[in-house]
Amino acid sequence: MRVSGAKIKTLISSAEIDRRILGLAKEISAQYGEEKPLLVGVLKGSVFFLSDLARALGDGYPIDFLAVSSYDGTESRGSVKINMDLASDIRGRHVLIVEDIVDTGMTLSALLDMLRTREPASLRVVTLLFKPQAYKGDHPIEFIGFSIPSDFVVGYGMDLDEDFRNLPYVGIVESL
Ligand code: 5GP
Ligand code: MG
Repeated sequence: MRVSGAKIKTLISSAEIDRRILGLAKEISAQYGEEKPLLVGVLKGSVFFLSDLARALGDGYPIDFLAVSSYDGTESRGSVKINMDLASDIRGRHVLIVEDIVDTGMTLSALLDMLRTREPASLRVVTLLFKPQAYKGDHPIEFIGFSIPSDFVVGYGMDLDEDFRNLPYVGIVESL
C-alpha cells in the first residue's frame, strides 16, 4: 500500500493485532490474578498498544507513562535519559512495562536497571513486537505479542521520523 508516497508492506494486519491483544490480556490477567499491575507505557510508540491492551484487560489496571531517550555508547549496555518521569511512586507495587517494540533491548535494559532502584514489588515487560535476532538484553521478556524479523517496521504507534504512527497495521517500509 502507498501511504503519503511511501510503499508499505503489511506485516501484521489490524485484525491479527486485535486478536493477539486479547490473547495477551488473558496471559497477563492469568499471571497477576488480583494483584493488578500498574501499566507503564513507554512514550511515544506504545500509546496505541497500551490503550488497546488496557481496554482488553478491563477494569482495575492503573496506567502511567514515561519518556526516555537512550545513549548508545560503546558499552554493551547504554544508559537512559528520562525525558518525562512517572507520576506514580512504584515502590512496593507490581509494574508492567508496556513497549511497542524491543529490538536490541538496550533501551529497555537501561530503563529496567533504573526502575529497579525504586524497588517495585515486581517488574515485568509486555511488548507488542520482539526482534529475537537483534536482542542483546539479559532480562526475559515475559509477554510477547509477535516475534518478527529484524526489518524496520512502522505503524500502530511506531514511526519513521514521526510519520506512519497512525497506521492501524504494522508494516515494513519498502520505499520512500
Ligand atoms: P532497542 O533499544 O531495543 O534497540 O530499541 C529502542 C527503540 O528503537 C524502540 O523502543 C523503538 O522506539 C525503536 N525501534 C527499534 N526497532 C524499531 C523498528 O523496527 N521500527 C520503529 N519505528 N522503531 C524501532
Ligand atoms: Mg519504544
